[in-house]
Amino acid sequence: MDTYETLLVNTGRHPEEHHGTVNPPIYRASTILFPTLAALEEAQHHPNEGTSYGRLGTPTTRAFEEAMAEIDGAWRSIAVSSGLAAISTALLALLRQGDHLLVADNVYGPTRHFCDSFLNRFGVAVTYFDPALGGAIDTLFQPNTKAVFLEAPGSLTFEMTDIPAVSEAAHRHGALVLMDNTWATPVYFRAIEKGVDVVLHAATKYIVGHADAMLGVISATKEAYGPLRQAFHTMGQCPDADACYLGLRGLRTLAVRLERHQRNAMRVIQYLRTCPEVVRILYPALPDDPGYAIWKRDFRGACGLFGIELQLFTSAAIRAMLDQLRLFGLGYSWGGYESLIVPAQPNGLRTATASLPQGPMLRLHVGLEDPEDLIADLAQGLNQLHSAQPMREMA
Ligand SMILES: *Cc1c(COP(=O)(O)O)cnc(C)c1O
Repeated sequence: MDTYETLLVNTGRHPEEHHGTVNPPIYRASTILFPTLAALEEAQHHPNEGTSYGRLGTPTTRAFEEAMAEIDGAWRSIAVSSGLAAISTALLALLRQGDHLLVADNVYGPTRHFCDSFLNRFGVAVTYFDPALGGAIDTLFQPNTKAVFLEAPGSLTFEMTDIPAVSEAAHRHGALVLMDNTWATPVYFRAIEKGVDVVLHAATKYIVGHADAMLGVISATKEAYGPLRQAFHTMGQCPDADACYLGLRGLRTLAVRLERHQRNAMRVIQYLRTCPEVVRILYPALPDDPGYAIWKRDFRGACGLFGIELQLFTSAAIRAMLDQLRLFGLGYSWGGYESLIVPAQPNGLRTATASLPQGPMLRLHVGLEDPEDLIADLAQGLNQLHSAQPMREMA
């Protein structure tokens, strides 16, 4: 059995099918031609295999799906047009009117918006729960609870969840577990091994890895897969072949990039810990983080994305800091090779968590630059906090 790094290099590649080229080509296709009516009819009977129409997948799509299923340890994977499409397609596939869904309070904002708008509109009841509950989630199941949706760590507040404990409770109640695994990727968290039934990825982030394509993936166990592929067919959520190609190419270097993102993030964090402006760092790979024990037990590494809580500086001071940064770009998304920073405002998004950071928060993505350059950039940025305006009075 090959090791994981070897698998990342070789999965989904079939040079013998493509004139020996190392990578599968980008098949741009809507129409697929068949030599005979019998061949066309045969393809219609197997829409999930091979190719019959562009929307249902090209050979490039299939190669990416094959690779994702293999590295996720899934029965099959489905490539879709974005991370949010993976989330919305999976939820619509698995839930129906009258069902109840449990959702971790720390999920990605647009996931929450989807639950509160579409799912509610279609008669699915949603209950948010504190991600720290773990197995104590047991009391929240109702007879109609069909699924639990997790994200760990949350991509704004970085709380961990005891995923094996939640999965055990969910399965005991006959519910499926869906998990957004964008932060760790399959390299650092093997969700299916830990009890998750349906894994969702914003491949837009680390898997594509270069900030140049939108792509999502749904990976599932054999038991959960059927309705997911059906919903994909019904809803037309297809990615284009170019994006699948970039996703596949990103996989080849994913382990190497993540290792460096992690090392650089640790170095930047080591510096931030010496800064009096920083109250707290939110990153489960730190031994004093509340999520550390679970992270250490279940995860194999940490990526370059973490949060910081600052002293009570005014928003004008924080604005001055962010506008002054040279290497940390101001922009959404993350997982590319470059460093990014954005203000994080989780409070408006939470309804079920007892304690959230009180001070202003920033979310940093540490890229592949030299961390000493990044530290110099942050140092001159943090200086701006003092020059702009005095701190707010403590409430
Ligand atoms: C970005 C992101 C998504 C959505 O992915 P898109 O490709 O932007 O639709 C979902 N979950 C998490 C945790 C994300 O960071």
